[in-house]
Amino acid sequence: MGGHLDSWHTAVGATDNGDGVLAVMEAARLLAAVGAQPRRTIRFALWSGEEQGLLGARAYIEQHLSDEAARDRFSVYLNDDPGSGGSLGFYMEENEPAKALFDAWLEPLSDLGVTRNIIESIGSTDHVPFNQAGLPGFNVIKDFEAYDERTRHTNADYPERMSEDELKQQAIFLAHFAWQAAQMEERMPRTGG
Ligand SMILES: [Zn+2]
Repeated sequence: MGGHLDSWHTAVGATDNGDGVLAVMEAARLLAAVGAQPRRTIRFALWSGEEQGLLGARAYIEQHLSDEAARDRFSVYLNDDPGSGGSLGFYMEENEPAKALFDAWLEPLSDLGVTRNIIESIGSTDHVPFNQAGLPGFNVIKDFEAYDERTRHTNADYPERMSEDELKQQAIFLAHFAWQAAQMEERMPRTGG
């Protein structure tokens, strides 16, 4: 799973995507704190150059997932961008079998307000290069209450726009999904086989 560490130059990029990075790091801490021993390796990536064209994620795929054997071992990538706004679920990139799994994984989280995955896709962030390489990659659905209109790529993108409660929700959500994906017998179903 990952988020992007680089930001837009007019402010510090607290909501795009500093808080996504925070949630990913906190999910890592949570899994370590409970002594999780997942069946699969969970990697945590803090990408660079997202704003310049998803450069970090593209470079990672080139360096680590370019051969068939590595792609065979890979299961799924979970992306958190933006970090701000309550999390609702994942965009499922038209992947019906993956959506069925993700829907089941959401059930125990309904009291956190994480309640729906949607089958539609979303572009413009670091899960896209995974999809382009034929690998499952999904981005979170956020409540865009303030993000798109107020903070994204503006000089208002400072930490006072972040919410501690939303970050806690997001970290639990990500840790739970990473754990579930890492415990699967099979790898995540891929669109088109
Ligand atoms: Zn951005």
